[in-house]
Amino acid sequence: MSATPECRICGGALHEFFDFGRQPLADAFVDPEGGTEEFFHRLAVAMCDACTMVQLLEDVPRERMFRTDYPYLSSGSTVMQEHFRATARHFLDTELRGPDAFLVEFGSNDGIMLDTVHRAGRRHLGVEPCAGVAEAAAAKGIRVRNAFFEESTAAEIAAAEGPAQVVYAANTFSHISYVDSVFRGVDALLAPEGVFVFEDPYLADIFERTSFDQIYDEHFYFFTVRSVQAMAAHYGFELVDVEHLDVHGGEIRYTVARRGARTPTPAVGLFLEREKAARITERDTLERFGAAVDKVRDDLRAVLERCRAEGATVAAYGATAKSATLTNYCGIGPELVAYIADSTPAKQGRLSPGSHIPVRSPEEFAAAYPDYAVLFAWNHAEEIMAKEEGFRRAGGRWIVYVPEVRIV
Ligand SMILES: [Zn+2]
Repeated sequence: MSATPECRICGGALHEFFDFGRQPLADAFVDPEGGTEEFFHRLAVAMCDACTMVQLLEDVPRERMFRTDYPYLSSGSTVMQEHFRATARHFLDTELRGPDAFLVEFGSNDGIMLDTVHRAGRRHLGVEPCAGVAEAAAAKGIRVRNAFFEESTAAEIAAAEGPAQVVYAANTFSHISYVDSVFRGVDALLAPEGVFVFEDPYLADIFERTSFDQIYDEHFYFFTVRSVQAMAAHYGFELVDVEHLDVHGGEIRYTVARRGARTPTPAVGLFLEREKAARITERDTLERFGAAVDKVRDDLRAVLERCRAEGATVAAYGATAKSATLTNYCGIGPELVAYIADSTPAKQGRLSPGSHIPVRSPEEFAAAYPDYAVLFAWNHAEEIMAKEEGFRRAGGRWIVYVPEVRIV
């Protein structure tokens, strides 16, 4: 663990604007039998005075976060499956029309996007550091290399397979603190007219929805169009297109090309203007965000304390990485939320990081519905509420906290 007093990208001064205190690794679910000690780090966010990139002040060694037994499977959600099928079809119809076209995805997880490229018979390669999910992709016939994407890996791929028309990453690039090595890797691998496309949570959405639980160890950077434009320019590239996506609580898909290779679309300028009008990089906005975070914490605690006083049973739904920041910052443990229902087998039977709330299967949730369920997986709200219709029919109520605490 190392402190980073300077911007990891441009070396500018960092202005810290929120400190969540000591936090566990958001995906390190705890074995109730004990054995391993939990790792905690200081979770604080800062904005660079020069390039405006929002980033964590401390980074956690990547091997601690993206382990062999990393429990997140992209294919768990049907909404996300459809999103990535559409993404793959878009690439097949635009960038991958040539007979030898080649797409590389880093952080390819269980192959949710590459599966469509593979089925279309097109050249592809996933680069995935977590062995478990990489094996799940390989089992579907997808080509995967079990590695971190960095300069050396990318150079080896380029030497062995030639240039890529598309380098793609979803919910991965903003996780990587060492973006310099990634950009050098993209430089080594990308065809002259190729595109580097990445989609990650959008800071403007996080501020607008007070979705502070998006801030955890695995999310190192919080992108805006302005900061990504500056970052791309810093490494000799150019931001040429942006598209807002309604997944994971609001993301942007950024398209970056070699400088001068493509003409930026009007969307880039439009988003820059919008960000300026919304003042998202101004100090008063950062302060308002901090006050809004503490209001959500106080309101949510008040609702849960009231449930406890009334003797109501409360569970949570979705043992998401996000919920680690929520439970630990708000001081929510098993005394307020009895358990978390989650469909990921690797999480069931374990305890949530830091807050030690037991994780159980959705079948156990359905077998004896609680009076209230806190929707930790709020980014999949529609899908979960539809799937768990029986909970509402049985008189259960959802507690949501994005963008504000409400019982629905
Ligand atoms: Zn900077």
